[in-house]
Amino acid sequence: MSEISINARKIRQELDAINKDAKIIAATKTRTREEIEECLATGAVAGVGENRVQEFRQKYSPGPRWDFIGRLQTNKVKYVVGKVFLIHSLDRLDLAEAIQRECVKRDLRQNALIEINTMSEPSKGGVSFDDFDAFRAALARFDRISVCGIMAMTALDADASTVRAMFEKARAAFDRCRTDLFCELSMGMSADYALAAECGATIVRPGRAIFGPRRIEARS
Ligand SMILES: *Cc1c(COP(=O)(O)O)cnc(C)c1O
Repeated sequence: MSEISINARKIRQELDAINKDAKIIAATKTRTREEIEECLATGAVAGVGENRVQEFRQKYSPGPRWDFIGRLQTNKVKYVVGKVFLIHSLDRLDLAEAIQRECVKRDLRQNALIEINTMSEPSKGGVSFDDFDAFRAALARFDRISVCGIMAMTALDADASTVRAMFEKARAAFDRCRTDLFCELSMGMSADYALAAECGATIVRPGRAIFGPRRIEARS
């Protein structure tokens, strides 16, 4: 068995002991098609998530679940709408407008999560906790977008207790809005997927923990 399959299965088993409802969406930036196929073949992951449009266009093939987890520019929306199951990074009204427009044009609907920037880092995408309710309310007029929940990002250099506090805060916001449709909480990467699952994540997004160290260090 390859490293990738061993890692994916191990994470699945680990999550089963914590929270069986936490699905794995493997983060695929910098990974090859072969690596991605290997990961999907294990059956341990629910799908994969790409965070760069250019790489997505090179690697996408229909069949498995592809999510989009990275920052999305409005002029690139056309390359992902209708192909990805879930966009995790809806964080601006102009992005919602672009998604809505593309959906109308092609008579589609698109699932998306509201991205919360839990530490309000100005250089990063995502809405703050303070702006979350207003942003969510403003999304109601986009009838082609199904807002399915929250994606929570934490700072990469945050310590475990801060990360836990942020995950718990995201969980509280999620619980407050939870419905049959608003039912996904995406949080946790390689360093903290177990903690995220403990805090109620329904989706975790490990990359390196499955595929190993990135050969080309990703731009953030
Ligand atoms: C890269 C990335 C991940 C995975 O990061 P790892 O540290 O490799 O687990 C998860 N989510 C997003 C949005 C990413 O960009």
